[in-house]
Amino acid sequence: MNETKILLTEKEMPEAWYNLVADLPFSLPSLLHPATGQPTPIPPPIFPMALVTQEDSRERYIEIPEPVREVYRLWRPSPLYRAHRLEKLLNTPAKIYYKYEGGSPPGSHKPNTAVAQAFYNKEEGTKRIATETGAGQWGSALAFACKLFGIECKVYMVKVSYQQKPYRRILMESWGANVVASPSTDTNAGRQILAKDPQSPGSLGLAISEAAEDAFGREDTKYSLGSVLNHVLLHQTVIGLEALKQLEKTGDYPDMVIGCVGGGSNFSGLAFPFVRDNLVSGKKTRIIAVEPLAAPSLTRGVYAYDLGDAVGMAPIAKMYTLGHTFVPAPIHAGGLRYHGMAPLVSALYNHKMIEAVAVHQNPTFAAAIDFARSEGILPAPESAHAIRVAMDEAIKCREEGKAKTILFNLSGHGHFDLGAYERYLSGQLQDYEYPEAEVKRALQDLPKVAA
Ligand SMILES: *Cc1c(COP(=O)(O)O)cnc(C)c1O
Repeated sequence: MNETKILLTEKEMPEAWYNLVADLPFSLPSLLHPATGQPTPIPPPIFPMALVTQEDSRERYIEIPEPVREVYRLWRPSPLYRAHRLEKLLNTPAKIYYKYEGGSPPGSHKPNTAVAQAFYNKEEGTKRIATETGAGQWGSALAFACKLFGIECKVYMVKVSYQQKPYRRILMESWGANVVASPSTDTNAGRQILAKDPQSPGSLGLAISEAAEDAFGREDTKYSLGSVLNHVLLHQTVIGLEALKQLEKTGDYPDMVIGCVGGGSNFSGLAFPFVRDNLVSGKKTRIIAVEPLAAPSLTRGVYAYDLGDAVGMAPIAKMYTLGHTFVPAPIHAGGLRYHGMAPLVSALYNHKMIEAVAVHQNPTFAAAIDFARSEGILPAPESAHAIRVAMDEAIKCREEGKAKTILFNLSGHGHFDLGAYERYLSGQLQDYEYPEAEVKRALQDLPKVAA
């Protein structure tokens, strides 16, 4: 078969998410309480119990509730594409497949978990959810999900994005969310920063602190995170489970599975079912995480316990980190600027079960443009990191005369990132590599915990 678009029927959509933790040959380090340093679950006052349970679950498959599947059907099962035109452009014997998550209403993979989280909150009586957003993808996914389940949504949006990227804010407001620039005057964390620096551009870690403080302070409010945590990665596995079924229809199986990593959720969603095949079916698929050289937590960070946010409200997690005081360079892949990496992805990398590559933003945008001009879809700058490495591997296949099968995740479209494309196309984008000295400096601020 030589199809371009491999589809599943609604009936073929997975009925359960896959929990990789059930198949791991090692146990995961627990989260630690930021005040006591003792093992802790994710804090129940600000998360619904269903998610607290999923976070530590060792059950292999966890049923996707029917009301969640009902919303998923708006865009799922998502298509798997064979990139015939990109293969031709690269003159490669490799077969390139990509799973397209940009067809959801908010335009990325993030509603796969936002919808599930809104559902569990609704079931447990939550009236209001507070969250943070960097460039706005997570905020828009949660605003969309909250609206569908009748929950109020408050979004703390990193101020520099709030000012520079009004369109994502307008999208969130169209779905009924209340969006404020972070640091805001609505929380102690925000007011403290503003007192010191009224012009503070904000950061993701600070916005997390504000949203968590909001949720801790109100009975009717819970908090929600769009990446990093186990339950978020779990919800994203619907991507990889669908991809497995779709590839089965083609008769192909990937030699490489590639995804970009910010907090690690879209990569995990595609990759974990294939990691399982490596663990239990003796497959030897290379699983490759791609990060920006400007925020290289896996390739340049250390594997250590660190704070999840700026002020120590979130649990301490063992992860690859650049330090919670990490100040990201203003690169255009807004979704890839978190200081740490999901503890689960970090553990896989530490056990050499996955690989990691870091790339510069100019070659990444070059790949995005090649992709748009061959396959048609304008990718999110985050997703373009995966495209860069998929293309590099396909070029290697040409040089080595090997016909390998490559699968990557196209985590979202780039229709809200045209400002970044404009800068690239007019030659104004600069490559930025996170300085080694900065890594060393930030690591001095790691919390002291008993080994
Ligand atoms: C948020 C985002 C990412 C990065 O987040 P992960 O949790 O690492 O997936 C990647 N791609 C898109 C399109 C995003 O919106």
